[in-house]
Amino acid sequence: MTREHLLIIGGGIIGALSAWSLRQEGFAGRISVIERDPTYRFASTALSAASIRTQFACPVNVELSLFGAQFLKNVSGSLGVEADIGFVENGYLILGDERTLPAREQALDMQRACGAAVERLEAPALAERFPWLSTDGVAMATFGTRDEGWFDAWSLLQAAKSAAQAADVAFVRAEATGFTTRGGRIVALETAGGEIAGDWFVNAAGAASARVARWLGRDLPVRARKRTVFHIKAPLDSERMPMLFDVSGAWMRPERDGFIAGIAPLDDCDPDADGDFEPDHALFEEALWPILAARVPALEELRVQSAWAGHYEMCLFDHNGIVGFAPEAENYILATGFSGHGVMHAPGVARGVAELVVHGAYRSIDLAPLGIERIIAGRPMPESAIY
Ligand SMILES: Cc1cc2nc3c(=O)[nH]c(=O)nc-3n(C[C@H](O)[C@H](O)[C@H](O)COP(=O)(O)OP(=O)(O)OC[C@H]3O[C@@H](n4cnc5c(N)ncnc54)[C@H](O)[C@@H]3O)c2cc1C
Repeated sequence: MTREHLLIIGGGIIGALSAWSLRQEGFAGRISVIERDPTYRFASTALSAASIRTQFACPVNVELSLFGAQFLKNVSGSLGVEADIGFVENGYLILGDERTLPAREQALDMQRACGAAVERLEAPALAERFPWLSTDGVAMATFGTRDEGWFDAWSLLQAAKSAAQAADVAFVRAEATGFTTRGGRIVALETAGGEIAGDWFVNAAGAASARVARWLGRDLPVRARKRTVFHIKAPLDSERMPMLFDVSGAWMRPERDGFIAGIAPLDDCDPDADGDFEPDHALFEEALWPILAARVPALEELRVQSAWAGHYEMCLFDHNGIVGFAPEAENYILATGFSGHGVMHAPGVARGVAELVVHGAYRSIDLAPLGIERIIAGRPMPESAIY
C-alpha cells in the first residue's frame, strides 16, 4: 500500500505547526508544506506583533489562547528542539469606557470561567498601579496577570520548521495554482512546476487563502487588510510595562529598547490590500500619535524609528478563524481567517487540524464553533475583541 500524502498550502506558522502536529498525532504518511516564498518576506507571521492574550469575547478563542500560552512558555519542551522565542509575560492592559462596560463585564466572567487569570481594575487602582497612564474616560480596565505577553514570531516559525523537518516533513518551494479534483475529492495540487498528487489538502495560505478557496468555487470571506506597526522611542521605563490597549483600539507595547504601536484604520479606509505593504505613515500623525500622547503623557516626546506593514487575514464575516473540513471536497481542510490572532492560536489550531485528519474529530479543544458551517448558515459568531 502506498503511503498517504498530505499537502499543506502555506508554510507560515499555521502550516508549519500543523505539519509538526500531524506527526505528533501519529500521521505516518508523507507531509509536504508548499511555500512560495521561503524568505517569508510578506508572510503575516513574520510581520506580526507576536503577542498573546486570553482576553477575547468568544470562549473558543480564550481556550486557544490558554493552550497557546502553555505551548509558547515552554516552547523548547513543546517542540522538542532548542528554541528561544523570548517570551515576556507582562500581560495585556485593556481599557474600556462606559459604552463598552456591559460587554466587557460579560466577557470577563466568561474568560475567568474558561480559566483565564484576568483582573478588573477601576480608575483609582489603575492610576496607582500604572502611574504613567492617564485614566481620563476609562470606566474599567482588565489586566491579564498570567498567560499574556509577547514573543518573537520569527524565532517561533524557525523552531516550528526545524521541529517539523526533524519529523520528516518536507518544505517545498512552489507556488500552488490550482487543484485537480475527481469524484468529490482533490487528487492533486497544481503548481508552476507540475502537479503534486495527494490524499489530504490543507489551506493554510493566510491572507491568500480566499484565492485558494476559489479554485473549488468557494468565496471565502477572508481578505487581506493592511496593518502598520510603528517602532518608537520615548522617555518611559518599559521594564514592567504591559501591552496596552486604549479605549480607541490604539495599542503599544515594549519592544527591544523602545516600543511598537499601532491602530486599525477606519473601516472606510481599509480596502483589500493585496500586494500593498507600504506603511501608512499618515495614520501615525493623524490618529495614533494624538491618542497615545493623551493616554501616556510621556509619549508627547516620542520619536518614530521605523515602520512596517503586514496583512491580517481578516474574516469579514465575524472576525473569527475558519477551521475544519469544507464541503467542497472530502479531503480538504481550512485553517485561516484569524483576523489578527493567528500566531497566538496557531498551536491549538494546528493540533485541531492534526486531530481531524488522524482521528476524524477534535480531541483537545473543540474547534467546531470555528467551522465553515456557520458561514454557510449565515450565523456569525462575532469576535469583538480584535484590534
Ligand atoms: C501587523 C500585524 C500584527 C499582528 N499581530 C498579531 C499578534 O500580536 N498576535 C497574533 O496572534 N497574531 C497577530 N497577527 C496575525 C498573525 O500574524 C496571523 O494571523 C498569522 O501569522 C497567520 O499565519 P498563517 O500561517 O496563516 O499566515 P502567513 O504567515 O501569512 O503564512 C501563509 C503562507 O502561505 C504562503 N502562500 C500563500 N499562497 C500560496 C500559494 N498559492 N502557494 C504557496 N504558498 C502560498 C505565503 O507565502 C505565506 O508564507 C498580526 C498580523 C499583522 C499583519
